[in-house]
Amino acid sequence: MGLSFYMMRYRITGIQKLQNQLFTDISVGLENGGLALLARKYGAICDRYLRMSRTVAWHELTVASRAALLNIEGWLHWLQGKDHRFVQLQRIFESQRVVLSPRFRKLPILLKIRPGEKLYHSIKLVGHFILVEISLLTFEWNVQYFEALARLLFQKLSRRKIPREILHQFYALQEEELSRSPRMAATVGSDPRLERLFDELNHAYFNGKLPKPRIKWSARVGRRQLGYYDQVKHEIGINPLLRHPEVPWYVLENVVYHEMLHIYYPPYIKNGRRVQHDRKFRALERQYVHFEKARRWIKHHFPQHLKRGWID
Ligand SMILES: [Zn+2]
Repeated sequence: MGLSFYMMRYRITGIQKLQNQLFTDISVGLENGGLALLARKYGAICDRYLRMSRTVAWHELTVASRAALLNIEGWLHWLQGKDHRFVQLQRIFESQRVVLSPRFRKLPILLKIRPGEKLYHSIKLVGHFILVEISLLTFEWNVQYFEALARLLFQKLSRRKIPREILHQFYALQEEELSRSPRMAATVGSDPRLERLFDELNHAYFNGKLPKPRIKWSARVGRRQLGYYDQVKHEIGINPLLRHPEVPWYVLENVVYHEMLHIYYPPYIKNGRRVQHDRKFRALERQYVHFEKARRWIKHHFPQHLKRGWID
């Protein structure tokens, strides 16, 4: 093919949607001549990856990788086709880079798709690059979602406090996308099981007097958070991770009970701060019969579930 690759390392993950070829990671080491040639030929995207070069010898590649390499030229064309999602994403992130603080503004952005089922994105500095990892799960979501994501991640990288509007907009778009996806619908949204649980706890602990909120599984819940009560919407959201069969029933009960307490014992303002979990709240919390057991389980097992991601 006229290019002298002598060392190269990359990985292609098979995904049917993308004709069984999804670019996840490429880092290439080339002779200088080859680098220049390739960069000229395939432009900025290629150039960016080439500069990230980390090298692995030819003989270290798997047979499949070697075979795929022989088709690298066609593959690079495919990769930078005008409508290719990857190129689109790159453009979106470039267009949002103005929010970056000056010290990061000039750095090249490297996008990587994180395979797997985790709804988790990240951003970090790697050498002189900004590495953005995007969850494969969201790969085909709306452009607006990625614009919001880019703003959010860039604020994060700049270590700025993320403005409320940016957060809200992002989560709203995320929920919208989640509700559209049939695969996610099974883990996010309303569920008679949660409704029943609310009724039972209401009966057992609150004389059935607590006004019933909307209650649902929600991916809006922060990664480390188990649930929330939104006073404005009168809505309880529960982390969908707690739906996993390995999570004991009393853990889920405990979390729902905790959020119910926020309805029963609303937060108040003291010295300009919002107080939610004061001593009285903590005492009420202990009235749940399996409180200690549930707490212990959460402490020891929940972090492992977190590693597996939100949706299981
Ligand atoms: Zn709470």
